[in-house]
Amino acid sequence: MSEKQASFYASVERNFEKAASHTGLPKGLLEQIKVCNSIYQMNFPVKIGNSYQVIEAYRVQHSHHRLPTKGGIRFSHLVNQDEVMALASLMTYKCALVDVPFGGAKGGVKVSPRAYNEEQLEKITRRYTVELVRKNFIGPGVDVPAPDYGTGSREMAWILDTYQQLNNGELDSAACVTGKPVNQNGIRGRTEATGRGVFYGLKEMLSNEKDCKEMGLKPGIGGKTMVIQGLGNVGSYTGSISIEEGGAKVIAVSEIEGTIVDENGIDINKLIKYRKSKGTIIGFPGTKKTAKREDWVGLKCDILVPAALESQITKANAKKVKAKIIAEAANGPVTADAEEILLKKGVIIVPDMYLNAGGVTVSYFEWLKNLSHVRYGRIEKRFDERAYSNLVNLVEKMTGKKVGQKERDYLTRGADEVDLVRSGLEETMITAYQQIRDIYKRKKKVNDLRTAAFVNAINKVASDYTTLGIFP
Ligand code: NAD
Repeated sequence: MSEKQASFYASVERNFEKAASHTGLPKGLLEQIKVCNSIYQMNFPVKIGNSYQVIEAYRVQHSHHRLPTKGGIRFSHLVNQDEVMALASLMTYKCALVDVPFGGAKGGVKVSPRAYNEEQLEKITRRYTVELVRKNFIGPGVDVPAPDYGTGSREMAWILDTYQQLNNGELDSAACVTGKPVNQNGIRGRTEATGRGVFYGLKEMLSNEKDCKEMGLKPGIGGKTMVIQGLGNVGSYTGSISIEEGGAKVIAVSEIEGTIVDENGIDINKLIKYRKSKGTIIGFPGTKKTAKREDWVGLKCDILVPAALESQITKANAKKVKAKIIAEAANGPVTADAEEILLKKGVIIVPDMYLNAGGVTVSYFEWLKNLSHVRYGRIEKRFDERAYSNLVNLVEKMTGKKVGQKERDYLTRGADEVDLVRSGLEETMITAYQQIRDIYKRKKKVNDLRTAAFVNAINKVASDYTTLGIFP
């Protein structure tokens, strides 16, 4: 385990301790909330070509105060126990913050997806699922995985199929994993959910005029310049939705192959297509490459968006940050050491456990959909449309004026699944931000949003433990 990764869990623990001192809760209860409840490390063989490879993998359930536990599965050659423990812990606090009734968990498989073809990745994913079933580490009421770095809906479909083969006839089996393809018991709006949640979170934060004045910023996300690290699921949707729905300007993007800049703004959708066809972001029309990949950290912008991996802004490069806001779209991108430097510089850090909670929020909606066995909107859509239509007809009759067809269509539309999912996500991100902001503004000694978020999450988990009668 490298020193860099070992510090991720230590970083989470350090942030927890900082917040714990503001809660006034008993030491034993805080210790129970902090520790990882179950850690399962496995090694299993998979036949790759003509030989067998032993794959190292993990599933950590951080907290059983609510069941099922929930958290993504990461495929990366950097996976190790410390990292999975840190990510599982963050999941507990994240779920508590956005009132999603799950304990936190995380999975990790130590493989680089780029090193395997699709068939080999399927074998690895299915074998990993068998291990989880064997040890009762997966199930609709036990532990429900989802996508994370290096995995997506394809892997979730393999997990579901494997689980169903081993649990034939289980009525709610579709709820054993979320982030599935829509045609395989998934939900519309899940793929974009984390990036969309980042957008809603930033929009809410920047909607308060007084707070913006304190930050030296004009209110609103419109016109704000953004620099994004990582053009994967989270980074690409954060960028494209912030541009299309918020009017923000993405002036730089960093990927494995390097960093590109265009002060006039980069079209994220075109950049994704370009990368797919060329295999790189370098050379995208209108952009210039920076000298080093790491240069994205020091670029002048309003919002810096690390959306790749943990420990990207560290003690070594924190001083270079020129942004007013760091939006933690990734998990743990700012180390605890870096945070101290940044807070002294007056940089506002919007913490991961809040800002990237959109994924788990919509996963919760997917889980509910699977348990109810009915698509959102199916029951009420036509009824609503008829009711709105009757209202428009009445207004027309009373005023003697006709509403245009375009306006009529807009006014009488019933909500589809994706409309309801987006609405639920926006409501969740707004409510959670206001709770954190309230603690940040009200508690004199809480000087940053991360500590405020931790205080809120710890209090919520503590209240569950006391309700369960485990602690007085
Ligand atoms: P992803 O695999 O879809 O994308 C990550 C991208 O980062 C890839 O394109 C990769 O090439 C790039 N990258 C890796 N190292 C880099 C580096 N050093 N410099 C620049 N780019 C680099 O993963 P994702 O699902 O978008 O997850 C990204 C982060 O967001 C992770 O920290 C993950 O835990 C977190 N997250 C994801 C979700 C989700 O729903 N997918 C939810 C919450 C949090």
